[in-house]
Amino acid sequence: MIYMVKIGLEIHCQLNTKSKLFCSCSTNISEKEPNSETCPVCLGFPGYKPVVNKKAIDFTIGIGIALGCTISNETFFSRKTYFYPDMSKNFQITQYEIPIATGGSIDIEGNKIRIRRVHLEEDPAKIVYANGDISTTEYTLIDYNRSGIPLAEIVTEPDIETPKEARKLLEKISAILEYLNVYDVSKEASLRVDANISSEGERVEIKNITGFENVEKALSYEVIRQKSMTRMKKVIERETRHFDETTRTTKGLRKKEYEEDYGYIFDPDLPSIRIDDAWINSIKDNLPELPDNKVKRFVGEYKISDYDAGVIAYTGKDMADFFEDCCKIYKRYDNISKWIINYLLKSLNWNSQKVSESKVKPNTFIELLEIMDNGEITERYAKELIKEYVDSGISPRALAKKNEFKVTDAELKKTVEGILKENEKALEDLKAGKENAKQYIIGLVLKATNNQANPKLIIKIMEELIH
Ligand SMILES: [Zn+2]
Repeated sequence: MIYMVKIGLEIHCQLNTKSKLFCSCSTNISEKEPNSETCPVCLGFPGYKPVVNKKAIDFTIGIGIALGCTISNETFFSRKTYFYPDMSKNFQITQYEIPIATGGSIDIEGNKIRIRRVHLEEDPAKIVYANGDISTTEYTLIDYNRSGIPLAEIVTEPDIETPKEARKLLEKISAILEYLNVYDVSKEASLRVDANISSEGERVEIKNITGFENVEKALSYEVIRQKSMTRMKKVIERETRHFDETTRTTKGLRKKEYEEDYGYIFDPDLPSIRIDDAWINSIKDNLPELPDNKVKRFVGEYKISDYDAGVIAYTGKDMADFFEDCCKIYKRYDNISKWIINYLLKSLNWNSQKVSESKVKPNTFIELLEIMDNGEITERYAKELIKEYVDSGISPRALAKKNEFKVTDAELKKTVEGILKENEKALEDLKAGKENAKQYIIGLVLKATNNQANPKLIIKIMEELIH
């Protein structure tokens, strides 16, 4: 039996406007004292009126356009009523009836994931569990600095079929948001996800997951749990669950309410907002080139593969720019993409760095490819050298030169002799002129010398020894 799973995501993205959604408090709260960046509006005092931040609407319109949505010509805010300590007004200002954007889609490897809506709402305060987590804490603290930060909520239809696909979708959406420059990628908590999943029974929602890997883990656990429930003929009830990062399991929090239960009402403190075509077009005209377009352009302009173009464009805008800067000074474009994808990205990931944060620059990166092209270093050696280059940012030619002198010619000769003696088969192949034997021996010598030898010199010594 094929076990069908349907997954939908609600992605909350903290927008990086300067001030909050309905007041002038700063959104820059990362190192602030708890509750210091607050005012009567974001603390929910009676009698204080919210005033909407136009920039947050601009950003949400931009997100809607980028996700292929239709932008509503009129929109308004509603109050979602519930009691929870993170919401001092007892209601959250959000959008329900007419969100800013509706009906877009994102393609994940040929599977079209529909975007139901994109709307704008205020972030609740942050609940801090002292000495533990939600189930073990002794008491709870609240920090209202986060209260009122604008959130764009992107809601998908339940078109996602696997936890892995959910992760891919998140990676794609976050890359688009990064291109739009509407959120701070460096803060993991700036994207929070509610994932709902249904298989045989009712819809289960896993609340407030941060980190794409965690979303995949939480959903994978939930698939297994629901499968075994079905096997044991137990009913899967509609409920809200919490993902525990340490145990990598989900736990039941409460039986799920229905959206209608919140009793949405129009917020009388905020006027309805008319978004005319001129407004929409001015945002459309100022959108940056988005990653899907870049992929198409890279394939056409630089004749690199669709896959390579996708990896480069979706790694981030800085990597896409880096690639194009490299293409200006070196014309073997496919060699650039090959070395970015297979080696540069690995070294950067190893250091948890983006290319823009690293010491890697187009001219020195291209130098590495050039000294390989003209035979100053072998490809094998370049693969070793790139790690040192990414760490230090020193010119690859200078690095190769520096390394060369660490092993004297006499020492190197001795090493090569020893290795040839130990590898009779390779020696025979070498005499027969086989290239892979040559590369094999170079590899062994480099390993034995900790990459401190010049491959050109190794070849010279080898040739002398076998003739
Ligand atoms: Zn405020």
